[in-house]
Amino acid sequence: MEKQEIIVVGAGAAGLMAAYLLSKSGKRVTILEARERIGGRIYSLNDPTLGYAESGAEFIHGDLTLTKQLLSEAGIGFSPSGGEMWEANGGQLRQSNWNIEGWDELMEALSHLQKDVSIAEFLQEYFGDEKYAQMRDAVIRFVSGYDTADPARASAFALRLEWQQDDEGAQYQIKGGYGELMAFLEKQCKSNGVNFQLEKVVKHIDWTSEQVRLTTADKIGYLAVKVIIALPLGVLKAGIDQPASVVFEPGLMDHSLAIQQMGYGAIIKVLLRFKSDFWNSAKTAKIGFILSGEAIPTWWTQYPAVSNLLTGWLGGLPAEAKKHLDENQLLELAIGSLANIFNKPETELCEELVAWKVVNWTTDPYTLGSYAYDTVESHRARILMQRPVAQKLYFAGEYLYEGPAMGTVEAALASGLAVAQQIS
Ligand SMILES: Cc1cc2nc3c(=O)[nH]c(=O)nc-3n(C[C@H](O)[C@H](O)[C@H](O)COP(=O)(O)OP(=O)(O)OC[C@H]3O[C@@H](n4cnc5c(N)ncnc54)[C@H](O)[C@@H]3O)c2cc1C
Repeated sequence: MEKQEIIVVGAGAAGLMAAYLLSKSGKRVTILEARERIGGRIYSLNDPTLGYAESGAEFIHGDLTLTKQLLSEAGIGFSPSGGEMWEANGGQLRQSNWNIEGWDELMEALSHLQKDVSIAEFLQEYFGDEKYAQMRDAVIRFVSGYDTADPARASAFALRLEWQQDDEGAQYQIKGGYGELMAFLEKQCKSNGVNFQLEKVVKHIDWTSEQVRLTTADKIGYLAVKVIIALPLGVLKAGIDQPASVVFEPGLMDHSLAIQQMGYGAIIKVLLRFKSDFWNSAKTAKIGFILSGEAIPTWWTQYPAVSNLLTGWLGGLPAEAKKHLDENQLLELAIGSLANIFNKPETELCEELVAWKVVNWTTDPYTLGSYAYDTVESHRARILMQRPVAQKLYFAGEYLYEGPAMGTVEAALASGLAVAQQIS
C-alpha cells in the first residue's frame, strides 16, 4: 500500500479548498469522498424538468471576502438577489417590514447580558411575561428557521453577535449556482495532480505518531502521513450504526465530547417548479421571501430573476420532527402550505406543478442535518477541534469557523484555508 502525503476525507467546500491550496503549494493530495459527486452540501441541480435549482447552499449571505475572492479568481459572476419580504397570515398575504415587536428592547437586554445562556433561557428570564408571548414566538421561529437551531441550546451571545452584525441583508446568487465554484476547485485540484476517489465511505481511522491508516466501507485501506477530516458535524456526531460514521483508533475522547457539545441543526428544502409564476401580480411583482406559520413556513422566489420556481424551507426542531416523513408526505405539506398562503385550492396548485424535489438533508446519511450553530459550549469545543492531533489528524468544516458567517460556504472555505495553512 503506497503511503499518501495527505488524504482529505470529504470533498465538500472545506475539503476541496484545503486540497486546492495544498496541491497548489506542491503537496501530493488524495481525496476520499463517500458520494458519487463532489460538493457535499453544495449541489446545483440542472434537471430536464425541474430546471436549474439549488438543492443545498444558494445565497452568499453578505459581502464575504473569501467566497468573493474565489469567485473572482474563477471568473464566475454573481448578482444581488432577494426581493421584498412578505408575510402570510390567516389567508392574507401582505408586504412585511419584518419588524419583530419589542426587538429593540430585546437587543438592549442582550447587550447587557454578562454570562452566556441559551436563547430560550434568556427569553424566559427577561421576557417571560405574557405580554412578550408574540415576541418570544417570533424570535424562536427565527432561530429555528434561519439558524436551523434548537433554541434550548443556541447561544444567546452568538445570536447577539449575528444580529448586531446584520449587514442590511446584502445577499447574492452565483451565476450558474454554487456548483460552478465547486467545479472550479475540482478542476484546479485535478490540474495540480489531486487524486479523487469517489464512492469511498471512510469507516475507520487508525492513527499512530508515524502514520494514519484509513479503511473504507468497501474494505480498501489507505496509508497517509497526514489526514484532513473534512466531514460534516452531523456525521461526526452520529452513532456507529450510521452508514457514514467513523471510528477513530485510538479513540479521541476530548474530541468526541467537543463534537457533541457543538450545535448542528436540521433542514428540509422543497423545490417546486410551476407552469407559471402565479404569485406574480402588479402588487407582488417584487416578492422575494414569504414568512408564514404554515407547516412549511418559509418560501422564496428567484426574484429578480424571472422564474417559475418556488423554494420552501423548514428548519430547526420542526424539521427534526418531520424528518421521517417520506417525500410525498412532505410534498403534501408543501402544497397545503402554499394553498393557505396564496388562498388557492390545492388541486389548482397540483395542476400548476410541473416538477418537484424534496431534499431532506437531515436524513441524508452523508450530512445528517443542516449546518452548525453555536451553543454556550461551542467556542471552547471549537478551539480544541482546531488543534491537530499528534500532527497527524486535522479537522476542517464549516462548524470550525469562528466569525459572523457561521454555517455558510464562506465558513467552510475559511476552515479549509486555515487547515491548509496549518499543514504548509
Ligand atoms: C439546505 C441547505 C442550504 C444552505 N444554504 C446556504 C446558503 O444559502 N449559503 C451558504 O453560504 N451556505 C448555505 N448552507 C451551508 C453550506 O452548504 C455549508 O456550510 C457548506 O457547504 C459545508 O461545507 P463542508 O465542506 O464543511 O461540509 P460538506 O459540504 O457537508 O462536505 C462534507 C463531505 O464529506 C462527505 N462525507 C460524509 N461522510 C463521509 C465518509 N464517511 N467518508 C467520506 N466522505 C464522507 C460528504 O459526502 C461531503 O461531500 C446550506 C446548507 C444546507 C444543507
